Amino acid sequence: MPAAPQDSDNVRMEFLLNLRRRGIGDQAVLRAIGDVPREQFVDPDFTGRAYADQALPISCGQTISQPYVVAYMSVELGVQPHHRVLEVGTGSGYQAAVLSRLAREVVSIERYRTLAEAARERLRRLGFDNVEVVVGDGFEGVPEQAPFDRIIVTAAAEEVPPALVEQLAEGGVMILPLGPQGGPQHIIKLTKTETGLLRESLIAVRFVPLLPGQAQEL
Ligand code: SAH
Repeated sequence: MPAAPQDSDNVRMEFLLNLRRRGIGDQAVLRAIGDVPREQFVDPDFTGRAYADQALPISCGQTISQPYVVAYMSVELGVQPHHRVLEVGTGSGYQAAVLSRLAREVVSIERYRTLAEAARERLRRLGFDNVEVVVGDGFEGVPEQAPFDRIIVTAAAEEVPPALVEQLAEGGVMILPLGPQGGPQHIIKLTKTETGLLRESLIAVRFVPLLPGQAQEL
């Protein structure tokens, strides 16, 4: 039996309450997450688990990140309404949709054309119209649209991609998971100052790898 609208409202309330219980206190981020229907971003087979705090599989062997991690990274990114944000790793477009409610504009780059096109269409259909999805290699960033006030990477690299540091505005913040596949990965926060990069290590995480080059089509 399909869930009654009341039930789905309750599920989404409970979802936000759980993020609060886990320590997400930023009202703007909670509001942004509340504005994005996650069930529209997961594979139809997983709709029933869209509001569980879990990463879920999407096409091309990739994943939509765990909601807590999306919320946590969005808080640490410290997005202001006038900011232009670059996301590396569009995937389903979910993180981009959340950021689009916090920022002036989001540019998101994805190495799989299939994922990029599906995300672009989904974001357009749902009305997230300040997001631009581009196909390409996130290691190179999007130099023609730089500098960015904020950069978020949603796949794990072993080293910080130098092109992304270059494309970060002065005073800008970049959040990315760093570490080997199958080994310890942490969210790293970099702040670009006049005198160099400040680096902080935050929580332990597990992300799919940031892979070089545009993907061969499946
Ligand atoms: N932010 C996504 C989660 C994506 S998982 C969401 O909210 O759904 C990580 C994504 O990064 C995958 O889709 C993967 O294809 C992509 N990716 C990996 N390496 C990349 C690269 N070098 N450039 C662009 N995208 C990359």
